[in-house]
Amino acid sequence: MMILSKIISLLFPNKCLNCFKYTNSNYLLCDNCYGALNIHTNFFCPNCNLKINSLNQKHNCNFNTYNFNLVIYCMDYKNNIVKNLIHKFKYQKISCIKPTIKQILGTSLSKHQSYFKHNKYIVVPVPLHKYKQRSRGFNQSEIISNLISQIINIKTYNNILIRFKNNPPQANQTNALKRQENAKNIFKINENQKHLIKNKNIILVDDVFTTGSTLNECAKILKQNNANNIIVICLAK
Ligand SMILES: [Zn+2]
Ligand SMILES: [Zn+2]
Repeated sequence: MMILSKIISLLFPNKCLNCFKYTNSNYLLCDNCYGALNIHTNFFCPNCNLKINSLNQKHNCNFNTYNFNLVIYCMDYKNNIVKNLIHKFKYQKISCIKPTIKQILGTSLSKHQSYFKHNKYIVVPVPLHKYKQRSRGFNQSEIISNLISQIINIKTYNNILIRFKNNPPQANQTNALKRQENAKNIFKINENQKHLIKNKNIILVDDVFTTGSTLNECAKILKQNNANNIIVICLAK
């Protein structure tokens, strides 16, 4: 398998999706562009954006807007290479981006893997509406969740949450208040699976963190159904 993939990569070298130079690796970014991703390895407070180095660090925030405590966002969305990478991952279904995304997640989570594993965390992706999932062919949050599962060696549950309303895309909502309204009451718990999250710690996963309204709605439902601690992981914010 290793030899075969080596031969394929020699015959069909990858081009960096950002600068279009040939790269000699399985990753879709050249070393220079990968280095410019500036990957974060710490947590952030979703309320005040304070950098938090470990889950043992106590932080009593003055603001309390979110139903989750901490966020890991691997990269900054304002970075054009990041934007480009996520756009291709989300809309062009390039499955060969997966190893690159996995490597980014692995770097970002490297300090926290054993904590998640030893504190009974499970992974739950933000669901798409079934019509949208059918037309896109996949749920990008599910793919990210499965990669996190592989990295930490914990379980992903894809069907805990159900998106029962096909709301207009959040990207079309012009301000934070509209996003909040747009995300309200569009998720529900899957009654057949709600026992799986009782007293469990949860890693809630989405691709991009914008205002956090969608994630906040998901976290609210999880909390209402007796989930314990909720942490959010996104590729970018
Ligand atoms: Zn490049
Ligand atoms: Zn804070």
